Amino acid sequence: MTQATENATQGGATIFNQLAPFDHEELVFCNDNATGLKAIICIHNTVLGPGLGGTRFYNYASDQDAITDVLRLARGMSFKSSIAGLNLGGAKAVIMGDPTKLKSEHFFRKFGRFIENLNGKYITAEDVGTTMKDMEFIKMETNHVVGLPEIKGGGGDPSPVTAFGVYMGMKASAKETWGSDSLAGKRIAVQGIGKVGEHLVEHLTKEGAKVFISDVNQEALARVSAAYNAEVVAKDSIYGLDVDIFAPCAMGAILNTENINQIKASIICGAANNQLADEKMHGQLLTSKKINYAPDFLVNSGGIINVYSELLGYNRQLAYAQAENIYNQTLQIYKLAKDDQITTHLAALNLAEKRINDYAKVKSTY
Ligand code: NAD
Repeated sequence: MTQATENATQGGATIFNQLAPFDHEELVFCNDNATGLKAIICIHNTVLGPGLGGTRFYNYASDQDAITDVLRLARGMSFKSSIAGLNLGGAKAVIMGDPTKLKSEHFFRKFGRFIENLNGKYITAEDVGTTMKDMEFIKMETNHVVGLPEIKGGGGDPSPVTAFGVYMGMKASAKETWGSDSLAGKRIAVQGIGKVGEHLVEHLTKEGAKVFISDVNQEALARVSAAYNAEVVAKDSIYGLDVDIFAPCAMGAILNTENINQIKASIICGAANNQLADEKMHGQLLTSKKINYAPDFLVNSGGIINVYSELLGYNRQLAYAQAENIYNQTLQIYKLAKDDQITTHLAALNLAEKRINDYAKVKSTY
């Protein structure tokens, strides 16, 4: 639970006092006994455009856990789309329950009906626990869905574009740190070589970096290590490795006090969402240790850029061109952080919020 939500829920976890702290617009509860569907759609902010964010399918311990998660995730999407310069608001959906037991065509078509009823204010996509196939079922009931296969007019797997954006953020971070954006000869540790991590390793080795990898999947480690001549390291020793750059591409909240204190890298730049265990405290710890942290929601915005392109008629070249701009955005964030003496995470949040607030003024007249 975020601090603001925690404060707001003290003295009674009413729904409205959970929406108020960050001005969430809508929370929609979707129930269907016939299919067992229990979903919550959260629309945080639609100043810049319709709220776009994936559907997470997870067996939450309680309704409150699901609400807390969807509120947090929807707000994160507002900032991600804003900083990426997209005309999109922030939203997210969560489906509660065991995906292995509940998933079926009619289950997702029913969910599609609920999305359709929001008339385009919410657009869904894949997230943890949902797949492209699930999106195809949703598409049977509504056009407000992206993340579809290329043969069905979609953009396919967004991971290559996400990885390219992270690569751009990393090169900009190198420029900021060493005066040159070349990664040739740099020692780079990549944590998690899944869909994004593997593509990132490909970019880095092509440029001549020495890459170290860790994962819990031994099969993937063997394959990626052989394909790119990357050195495998034990899962827990990745933090303390003697490297120039650390790229978290697995789970969130890994930048905690214990891990940060082991990190020898000068740059942290990776795809994982919500890397800072505590945004304020750990953002400041990184600054005090003179580690250049490239904000996760900026450098991993290639994924949302790719799905946004589907709304305009999918164009892979355009998606890559937009993701390339993450380089300039990252440099801008380092400058803002220095000028204002704040963390890079806060600088990125400020910039994202400013774009939303500025556009709210544009919208104030017809
Ligand atoms: P993925 O599931 O394909 O890959 C994650 C990898 O991390 C897997 O190989 C998994 O085995 C590994 N892993 C899990 N626990 C680990 C641990 N303790 N140590 C090392 N490795 C571990 O996911 P992905 O699509 O590659 O996404 C990676 C991260 O980037 C996630 O946090 C995701 O939310 C974020 N992200 C992805 C996209 C995208 O386009 N796929 C976009 C934005 C953000």
